[in-house]
Amino acid sequence: MTLIDTSPRRVPGTDLTIGPIGYGCWRLTSDVGHATEMITTALDNGLTLIDTADVYGLDWGGTGFGTNEELLGRVLAANPELRERMVLATKGGILPPTPYDSSSTYLVKALDDSLRRLQTDRVDIYMIHRPDMYAHPEHVAQVLEGFVTAGKVRAIGVSNYTPAQTDALQAYLDVPVSVTQPQFSAAHTAPLRDGTLDQAMKDGIVPLAWSPLAGGRLATGEGLRPELVAKLHKLGVREGVHNTVIALAFVLAHPSRPVPIVGSQKPERLFEATQALSVALDRNDVYDIIEASEGVPLP
Ligand code: NAP
Repeated sequence: MTLIDTSPRRVPGTDLTIGPIGYGCWRLTSDVGHATEMITTALDNGLTLIDTADVYGLDWGGTGFGTNEELLGRVLAANPELRERMVLATKGGILPPTPYDSSSTYLVKALDDSLRRLQTDRVDIYMIHRPDMYAHPEHVAQVLEGFVTAGKVRAIGVSNYTPAQTDALQAYLDVPVSVTQPQFSAAHTAPLRDGTLDQAMKDGIVPLAWSPLAGGRLATGEGLRPELVAKLHKLGVREGVHNTVIALAFVLAHPSRPVPIVGSQKPERLFEATQALSVALDRNDVYDIIEASEGVPLP
């Protein structure tokens, strides 16, 4: 029996639901025409979580801090109906050259700047992009709760937090931490054992998996163990799909029901990603992938 649950994921603390696969805008640095096509294609294929961040644009083909949010904002301004169809998520807390800043002063300004660039008066999910170890969780919680109370944010989340950091934040919050966004893929299996996915199941947090294709390496095989490439290929042949579809199915198969956030810039690959919802992976398949990825037999 397949391990994959294709039903929508409810965002805790809200009446929002998101499709089991999401779309990420880190690499969306093109132009309004292409960006509109990508966002429309994502929504048409059920990728209703649209994930971005204020810092996107600073690298990966972008032209500066905030420029990917600005591009998405132009898409939304020209097509307001798209805003209604998506669950819009963004993140703040990184302002190079300062690595991380979750101070109240900084975050309050960061959210207002994101809203202005996105040309919207509310984001559905606001995440702290990376933990600021020098911000007390009580103060971060106060800021985030203030965003919800002010109606600027519907749900809050964290990214790249350890489970202990998430617990510390939640301890000071009266609203739930709704999502957690770790790196998770067939090439990066740490969340299976570091407590991230266990905590998500314990507390009802929706895990959003970033770089579910390891930034494309699970497509090209670059830098991967040959055993992993061979395993994905074998399962792909069995299921009649590309290796990348098996890789996405691997993320989806975990009982915490992670939402892989795909980052392709090619519309046809968003359609292809949805094939992962029809793939049948069982326990032997996922454990085979883990062994092939880690290069060590499971005890
Ligand atoms: P990904 O889906 O793992 O990788 C996307 C890359 O894979 C694209 O360059 C894409 O190229 C390539 N690719 C996909 N299918 C391919 C195929 N069949 N053959 C060759 N190449 C293929 O995701 P990602 O872009 O690294 O990250 C996804 C999202 O996660 C980001 O947009 C962002 O929202 C989020 N993220 C969050 C964090 C964080 O710290 N919270 C960090 C990184 C990313 P094409 O465009 O040519 O298809």
